[in-house]
Amino acid sequence: MLGNVWHDTAKEPPLAADVFRGDTKTTVAVVGGGFAGLSVALHLAEAGIDCCLLEAGVFGEGASGRNNGQVIPGLKLGPEDLRDRYGEAGDAVVETASGAADLVFDLIDKHAIDCDPDRRGWVRAAHSAIAMPAIEKQARQWERHGAPVELLDQNQIAQLLGSDRYVGGMIDRRAGRLHPLSYCRGLARAARSKGARLHQNSPVLSLSRQGDHWQLKTDQGVLSADKVILATGAYSDHLVPGWSKSFMTVHAMQIASAPLSSNVLKTVLPGASALSDTRKLANAIRLDADGRIIISGRGPLSGRIDDSVIRQLVRTIVRLFPSVEDQDWTHVWAGKIGITMDELPRLSSPQPGLYGIVGFNGRGVAMATAFGKAAAQHCMGQSAGFPIVDAPKVPFHTLRKPILAAAIAYYRTRDALGIASR
Ligand SMILES: Cc1cc2nc3c(=O)[nH]c(=O)nc-3n(C[C@H](O)[C@H](O)[C@H](O)COP(=O)(O)OP(=O)(O)OC[C@H]3O[C@@H](n4cnc5c(N)ncnc54)[C@H](O)[C@@H]3O)c2cc1C
Repeated sequence: MLGNVWHDTAKEPPLAADVFRGDTKTTVAVVGGGFAGLSVALHLAEAGIDCCLLEAGVFGEGASGRNNGQVIPGLKLGPEDLRDRYGEAGDAVVETASGAADLVFDLIDKHAIDCDPDRRGWVRAAHSAIAMPAIEKQARQWERHGAPVELLDQNQIAQLLGSDRYVGGMIDRRAGRLHPLSYCRGLARAARSKGARLHQNSPVLSLSRQGDHWQLKTDQGVLSADKVILATGAYSDHLVPGWSKSFMTVHAMQIASAPLSSNVLKTVLPGASALSDTRKLANAIRLDADGRIIISGRGPLSGRIDDSVIRQLVRTIVRLFPSVEDQDWTHVWAGKIGITMDELPRLSSPQPGLYGIVGFNGRGVAMATAFGKAAAQHCMGQSAGFPIVDAPKVPFHTLRKPILAAAIAYYRTRDALGIASR
């Protein structure tokens, strides 16, 4: 099987960007060229703030170039629960979360990003009757907020999905899907056109406070900055001591089929852009613009491509859509997801002038874009769409591997019993 399908199908070409060299200054340094970092750079550059972004690999090297491309607004809590959780900042958080998909589709339009946007809604499907109350709670809260979210019964969901394996669910019509790598490259193109300085193949090797500014060293240069935004997501290394202990990393694997025939295509997701289900070890499924079906699910802890996981993903998709049984599966790839204990992302400031963004818990296409904008607003001293919160260390982080293995076994049992995740 080939690797990441998005590399073979991207319409936005890779952006040529030089390795960072020399000794220079900027107002804001951004580390990481995924959705979060590139959104920071775009929003700062649009406001006329000098910024310089350093990416270790190429834009979309991390999760942003590897994901399922579902554009899902909102967080794992509904708006009323978010207000309770964030207090005074609650209204701003709800607006940011609710508007995150609008932000993405507006950026695509504004910057003519060629990334196959499709906005017919995201279905969250209940894999058992006992998973329905969690969906009902979320859907009712969004309905009361005035969002275009509707509950679905078994017949309605079967019609939208072309699968009768779910007992019900909800559709969120703010949501959709896109080609993630093209979107990422398009954000980079837009940021640079607005004046952001962008560099690839420039891993930041050290970050230190020097008097009133920050110093970032790469193997070929030194960058001094008033402020730094760490947007290294689940690909964070040890640049900021303790930062990567504030979340855990899990691996997800995806497979893509060859383009489906027109007959089979009519039977798969005929009425929605994308689907995820209520299993804690959730499956996310979508078609691409050429009619390939793409499914992601939890990968092995090692992160290595694993035949048993491929077989498991094929079994899952065929159970849901029997018409795809004889398809060729052409691509397989994996990526890392940053998860937090409370399943909420964080915009934190571990030291003065240093901000970090992490923890999208598998929902970062829209939310990392929105958090990038919020981080840019904080840097500019504007009222921002998300507050600065603490990033407490995950307890027993050094034992995370056995803990994650135990958690996965636990959630596999819960999923089999039909219990929903948030
Ligand atoms: C398989 C999979 C499926 C997913 N599906 C979906 C989905 O359908 N919908 C959804 O909303 N979300 C999904 N997600 C989650 C989503 O992809 C992420 O939340 C999002 O891409 C995070 O963006 P980011 O910019 O924070 O991080 P990333 O895209 O991971 O970017 C971090 C960047 O930092 C760079 N970096 C790290 N260290 C350094 C350093 N020292 N110097 C310079 N650069 C550095 C890395 O090279 C990397 O490019 C999925 C994730 C995976 C893995």
